[in-house]
Amino acid sequence: MPLLEVKNLKKTYTSRFGMNQVHALTNVNFTVEEGEYVAIMGESGAGKTTLLNVLAALDRPTSGSILLNGQEISTIQDSKLSAFRRRHLGFVFQDFNLLDTFNNQDNIFLPLVLSNEKYRTMKRKLDPLAQELGISDLMKKFPYECSGGQKQRVAIARALITKPELILADEPTGALDSRSTEELLMLFQRINEAGQTILMVTHSVKAASHAKRVLFIKDGTVFHQIYRGDKSREG
Ligand code: ADP
Ligand code: ADP
Repeated sequence: MPLLEVKNLKKTYTSRFGMNQVHALTNVNFTVEEGEYVAIMGESGAGKTTLLNVLAALDRPTSGSILLNGQEISTIQDSKLSAFRRRHLGFVFQDFNLLDTFNNQDNIFLPLVLSNEKYRTMKRKLDPLAQELGISDLMKKFPYECSGGQKQRVAIARALITKPELILADEPTGALDSRSTEELLMLFQRINEAGQTILMVTHSVKAASHAKRVLFIKDGTVFHQIYRGDKSREG
C-alpha cells in the first residue's frame, strides 16, 4: 500500500452566486510510496496551491479520493482535522510561518504543546533534532533575529518533531537566497535519506531537480513525470 494515494481528484471553485466556475484540479492521480521524495512542478495557476491545500486537508476536494496509509482524509470531520494534521503531517512553508512572539524553541514545541506533551519529553525530542539541523545555538533566539535560512531550519524542526508520516512543503526555497536554497535542498535530501517522505510543491527547477521524482501539473492535472538520474527505472 502506498503512503499516499490520490485518485480522480477534482476541485472546482464556484463563485458566490454560482455564476463562475474555476476548474482548479480537473483530474489528479498519483501515488507516493513511503520514503519517496517527490516534487510537484507547474506554472502559476496550474493548481499547485489548491492541490497542497486539499492534500493538507485545509480544503475539501469537489470529488475524488486521498488516502494516507489507507485512511480517507477528504472526509475527516472538521473537529478532528487539526489533530489529524498534527499527528500525520508536517508543514514547511515559503514564508516559514513562525510566530515572532515565541522564541525558536517554543515555535518548535508548539505542535507538541498542543498535543499536551510534557516539557521534559519535548526537550528530549528537540535536542538531537536541533543538533542535526545545526540550530542548537538558536533555540533562545526569536525568529526575527534569524536569517531566512535559519528560520527555515527552525520551521523544518517544527515539522519533524512530531515524526510525521509525510512532509508537505510549499515553495520551501521561495524566500531564500541562492546559498540558503542550496543548503536547504541538501538538508531535505539528508532528511529523505534518513527515511522521511517528502512532497514538495515548487516552481523552481533547481529545487525540483533534487527530488527523486518530479510530477508536472498543468491545467489541474498531472501530465508528465520524470525520475531523477536512475537508469534502473527506465523502460
Ligand atoms: P498555483 O498554486 O499552481 O499557482 P492555484 O491552485 O493557486 O495554482 O490556482 C489554480 C486555479 O484555481 C487558478 O486558475 C486560480 O485562479 C484558481 N483558484 C485558486 N484558488 C481559488 C479560489 N479560492 N477561488 C477561485 N479560484 C481559485
Ligand atoms: P501561489 O503563487 O502560491 O500559487 P496565488 O497567487 O496563486 O499563490 O494565490 C494566493 C492565494 O489566493 C492562494 O491561497 C489561492 O488559493 C488564492 N487564490 C488564487 N486565485 C484565486 C482566485 N481567483 N480567487 C480567490 N482566491 C484565489
